[in-house]
Amino acid sequence: MVTYSSTRGDKHKYTASEAILQGLAPDGGLFVPDHVPGLDRSLEELAGMDYRSVAYEVMKLLLTDYTEEELRSCIDAAYDDKFDTGEIAPMAEAADAYFLELYHGATIAFKDMALSILPHLMTTAARKNKIHNEIVILTATSGDTGKAALAGFADVPGTRIIVFYPKDGVSPIQKQQMVTQTGNNTFVVGINGNFDNAQTGVKKLFADKELGEWMGEHGLQFSSANSINIGRLVPQIVYYVYAYTRLLKEERIKSGDLINIVVPTGNFGNILAAYYARRMGLPVAKLICASNENKVLFDFFKTGTYDRNREFILTSSPSMDILISSNLERLIYHICGDDADKCRSLMEQLAASGRYEITDEMRERLDMFEGGFCDEKKTLRTIEDIYGSYGYLIDTHTAVAAGVYADYRAGSGDDTPTVIASTASPYKFTGSVLAAIDPDYRSDDDFDKADRLSEISKVPIPSAVKDIRNAEIRHKTVCEIDEMESVVKNFLEA
Ligand SMILES: *Cc1c(COP(=O)(O)O)cnc(C)c1O
Repeated sequence: MVTYSSTRGDKHKYTASEAILQGLAPDGGLFVPDHVPGLDRSLEELAGMDYRSVAYEVMKLLLTDYTEEELRSCIDAAYDDKFDTGEIAPMAEAADAYFLELYHGATIAFKDMALSILPHLMTTAARKNKIHNEIVILTATSGDTGKAALAGFADVPGTRIIVFYPKDGVSPIQKQQMVTQTGNNTFVVGINGNFDNAQTGVKKLFADKELGEWMGEHGLQFSSANSINIGRLVPQIVYYVYAYTRLLKEERIKSGDLINIVVPTGNFGNILAAYYARRMGLPVAKLICASNENKVLFDFFKTGTYDRNREFILTSSPSMDILISSNLERLIYHICGDDADKCRSLMEQLAASGRYEITDEMRERLDMFEGGFCDEKKTLRTIEDIYGSYGYLIDTHTAVAAGVYADYRAGSGDDTPTVIASTASPYKFTGSVLAAIDPDYRSDDDFDKADRLSEISKVPIPSAVKDIRNAEIRHKTVCEIDEMESVVKNFLEA
């Protein structure tokens, strides 16, 4: 049995389903498992399984209060023909690496890997725990979580979903995806601020006791679809195990061989899932954390100091435009030796001064991490190079990872087989991707650019893009950061 408790000292132990329902611990901390169980199937056995079966074998170890029937039915409902490939997460070889394509779901970013199952895990959790309140999913998005969560929760009985996105901080396609969302239980709001403002605002609403009471009186309770929810994190561990076992099945590696994993990182959720996969026994050497110009994590790995006091830069990889990487708190907790008091004190320093410094002892426990960053110019050049040399089209986020990996490999001489998490379809960031491979094309319309990109690359336009081209705009609300609470209350009272 794995139980969950807060990174900040609240000693109460929660089951997995309780932690998924709550999202965030009452003291503002994140839920962490009391221990990380090892895989109980051999890598060879897992290599013989399909995505769903691997998902079950991994998730059963961490979501221990779900029955086998419950878990399998959640998995079956999630990983079905919403994905445009039966493999769910196929791999492509290019540029001395394996690109693990995590963008074949309904909203064409890797967020679908977890958010297509989270609504099922959550409604199952509500049933198990005899919750009769309506569950209100409150989410901040840097662009991709919002749409994936909306798609997952739209018209799910017993739930409503509210998404806050930075009004000027997402790509045109991302924005169109969100503002055209259907479903009577959905509400999308642009804020005049950046992602950090949105995320901090949402965390405040979660921690607001009075608002919590108001919710209770109205038969409502909050939960989160952000990667702070362990119901996001656990499904993300699956695809790293899956990737390894595919390489094994295709005889590109032998069982037990080490691999490296490169992850384009923002909120530190995706790479944290890889860290947990490693702790579960997956043979992983380096975890390479790739940042864009908002390189707060690169600096952290280099110096041991986390310092968000810097300019927030809008880049062509907006889903990584983040200076407060929430999930890093879980890693901090673990490298403190699972010491919640130490972790809380560092998080208090972060809240008060925007920075903290870890001890040498903690730094030693980070030796499997390698940080790198890729600036705007190199990101576009990487898209161009990989398309030019291999005919393989990647998006801007994946290009940050590929650019960092190229530098790492050249600098270290490390030629360990490497998996790069490919986190979005190039069609989600059409403007930037097209600018990299056809800089002379002129249009103000991202859908025209999608046509052009498809004409050149012969990669078909995903239906997720075609379907929203002429869709009705249903969400026009915009608010200031300090209006988030009243906006939420107005929607819930309506
Ligand atoms: C969310 C996102 C990331 C960053 O993932 P984190 O888990 O926040 O580190 C990278 N790329 C894309 C396309 C994303 O949507």
